[in-house]
Amino acid sequence: MTVTDYLELEEQFGAHNYHPLDVVVQRAEGVWMYDMDGRRYLDCLAAYSAVNQGHCHPRIVKACTDQARRLTLTSRAFRNDQFPLLLKQLHDLTGMDMALLMNSGAEAVETALKAARKWGHKVKGIPEGQAEIIVCANNFHGRTITIVSFSTDEQYRDGFGPFTPGFTVIPFGDADALERAVTPNTCTFLVEPIQGEAGIIIPPDGYLKRAEAICRTHHVLFITDEIQSGLGRAGRLFAHQHEGVKPDAIIIGKALAGGLYPVSALLATREVMGVFHPGDHGSTFGGNPLACAIARAALDVIVDEGLVQRSAKLGTYFLDRLKTIQSPVVKEVRGRGLWIAIELTGPARPYCEALQTEGILCKETHEHVIRIAPPLVIEVDEIDWAVERIRKVLTK
Ligand SMILES: *Cc1c(COP(=O)(O)O)cnc(C)c1O
Repeated sequence: MTVTDYLELEEQFGAHNYHPLDVVVQRAEGVWMYDMDGRRYLDCLAAYSAVNQGHCHPRIVKACTDQARRLTLTSRAFRNDQFPLLLKQLHDLTGMDMALLMNSGAEAVETALKAARKWGHKVKGIPEGQAEIIVCANNFHGRTITIVSFSTDEQYRDGFGPFTPGFTVIPFGDADALERAVTPNTCTFLVEPIQGEAGIIIPPDGYLKRAEAICRTHHVLFITDEIQSGLGRAGRLFAHQHEGVKPDAIIIGKALAGGLYPVSALLATREVMGVFHPGDHGSTFGGNPLACAIARAALDVIVDEGLVQRSAKLGTYFLDRLKTIQSPVVKEVRGRGLWIAIELTGPARPYCEALQTEGILCKETHEHVIRIAPPLVIEVDEIDWAVERIRKVLTK
């Protein structure tokens, strides 16, 4: 099989819902991925931050294989010996009262929306079917019908209607707009603390703090989607901690299982989670023992290897180095932790293709942005190596 053979199989038999770079990755270790010819590439996407711990982390792989031999799935009809331990670990790590485990990020977002609406009705007293949720323009929260119902990206919605009602869209980073949008029927403000898919957009200082205060004043839940920004990516355990806010609920996924398995969760206060009673919501695979064993190891790695601190320290280093690149095509370089955007004056795709030739894999985000988000285990000399290649491609 050649690279062309693989591309042709995908073209013929797979839905064309992605436009990947033409590299066929066969194995990976830490920050490095290897193609079919054994050529190595520095992974600067980390599967949209799902592999913050690095590819095939030995400790997580061991937890996975050990658990796979013992017990993989009971369904929640019975209990298992991994689920409660993960719940306790999530509580100890995040300080949130309770967790509800799902699989993909989108499912955890749906869980948050359900919790928010039900809280709005049962606790806040909003008439049934009237609860409104405020979200931000250029958000990315996943791909289900309900979630794309409040996307402002036309392509995400095109042809998929009818859509779910009950959402109000306001500009991101504008607390006054939030204040104006709140009505007596508002149950929740759902926000990414830093907008990832929109191009790593960092809101103005104080935005989240003010948003939190507005929510408190109007008895509105403040929920952050930390699926991509959380678990160390932005240099804090959660990106919202840059402003010291305390959300009523936090959505996590991606790195929660170190890239080995889809595991997501809604973390929430006892009051919010209290709206769920047996039969209200569920998932066959949510909270399964294999997922829980993998997530436990993935969280241990984040803590034991100091990945949050690493992200903060090395992220600043990487950002400062990238800012030294003098190029007419670079409009702005910004970031938090190891989550860096190089915004260009034109399309980013050709530069991503050029970086591939140089041995760096990254993905353009919203046309003009190169997103640099390597696994958090990256070393200083690997950053230096990457910066020289990025410099070469951007100044050619
Ligand atoms: C990736 C992502 C999601 C969706 O997660 P999936 O696992 O792809 O369903 C939701 N919100 C944010 C912020 C994300 O980055």
